[in-house]
Amino acid sequence: MPGFEVFGAEERQEALAVLDSGVLFRYEFAKERAGVYKVREFEERFARYCGVAHAQAVTSGTAALKVALVALGIGPGDEVITQGFTFVATWEAILDVGAIPVFCEIDETLNMDPADLERKISDRTRAIIPVHMMGAAARILEIKQIADRHALPVIEDNAQSPGASVQGGKLGSFGALGTFSFDPVKTMTTGEGGMVVTRDPELWRAMSEYHDHGHDHLPNPGGRGGEGRRFVGFNFRMMELQGALGLAQLAKLDGIIAAQRANKERLRQAVSVLDGVSFRAQVDAAGDSATFLAFLLPEAGRARAVNRVLREQGAGAVYFAENTWHYYPRWEHLLAGATLARSGWPFQDGGRRRVIYDPKALPQSAAIMDRTLVYQVPVRLSEERLAQIAAAAKAAAKA
Ligand SMILES: *Cc1c(COP(=O)(O)O)cnc(C)c1O
Repeated sequence: MPGFEVFGAEERQEALAVLDSGVLFRYEFAKERAGVYKVREFEERFARYCGVAHAQAVTSGTAALKVALVALGIGPGDEVITQGFTFVATWEAILDVGAIPVFCEIDETLNMDPADLERKISDRTRAIIPVHMMGAAARILEIKQIADRHALPVIEDNAQSPGASVQGGKLGSFGALGTFSFDPVKTMTTGEGGMVVTRDPELWRAMSEYHDHGHDHLPNPGGRGGEGRRFVGFNFRMMELQGALGLAQLAKLDGIIAAQRANKERLRQAVSVLDGVSFRAQVDAAGDSATFLAFLLPEAGRARAVNRVLREQGAGAVYFAENTWHYYPRWEHLLAGATLARSGWPFQDGGRRRVIYDPKALPQSAAIMDRTLVYQVPVRLSEERLAQIAAAAKAAAKA
């Protein structure tokens, strides 16, 4: 997910325009900034790119999830369903608003299994967060149908798949809200940063106010600070330098994806020599942003044996089954209910445990993850590196 690979003159030029204006804050300073509104312009262009009416820039992808949940009115007493293969941020945000994350199985798409989603819906469910992991779509049309039938809003966590699509619709534009991350290892990066997109003007207005202490961003008597507030907010504001970098990176996004698609195909051919290898199921292969290549071996022992050889040859793949940041049974702090709060919140309330997580609760996900190996697809793939991976795969095929 390497926006940093293409960092260059365009980013420098955009950032310099902000430094020259001397205004780092996205609001106010109308005279000093002389028409330079980088965050606002980034929001407008990002919304247009996603095919939606509104975008709200925030400080991170994690903040984007939190702001989206808050805008939907979610809090204590509510359950939010997400998947057991995602970055910890997805459920951190759910816990942070006081709701309970409920974990759902993944299927061969490596994303949310709609059949298990249906089983996990309870009378406390208030939202569903499918995560489009590793560049490609969850079964978003089916998930949306189920959600609609239960009158539940969908938040798409699209931190890992900006620019990917299903039947021509950009991921993030299917749900009530779609969230994005621009952290240092994502497909496009602003160092830190995030975005929430929506078609709904009222959700956007709630996010705009919440993320800035309740300021309504209208011309007010007395200027900024002259207005009243509709509700208690927080500070998740993006700064102008990030907006500037975002504009430069967004302009490169389609080029990044095109390069990744070509390189993913070369990597796919390299690992095709492995006996019985198969590939992650794609909802819409043409819409894959090709950020990762996920390949599956017939059984877990074989996946581990293959990766041992790949590692020895300097071309080890990511084995998410052992990854402590992205996979449910490896989240020891979640399973233990570990928190700094003396009250035990959000795992305990009034001395009583609100939720207990069983590490063996997702057997279908385990059966898939145990067989799955993953290569990150770089934007720039050298012939040497490709040859090394191809040679390693050949060696692993013989082992
Ligand atoms: C990176 C990521 C996030 C969080 O984004 P940050 O900008 O790092 O806070 C959320 N969800 C997923 C799936 C991610 O990969």
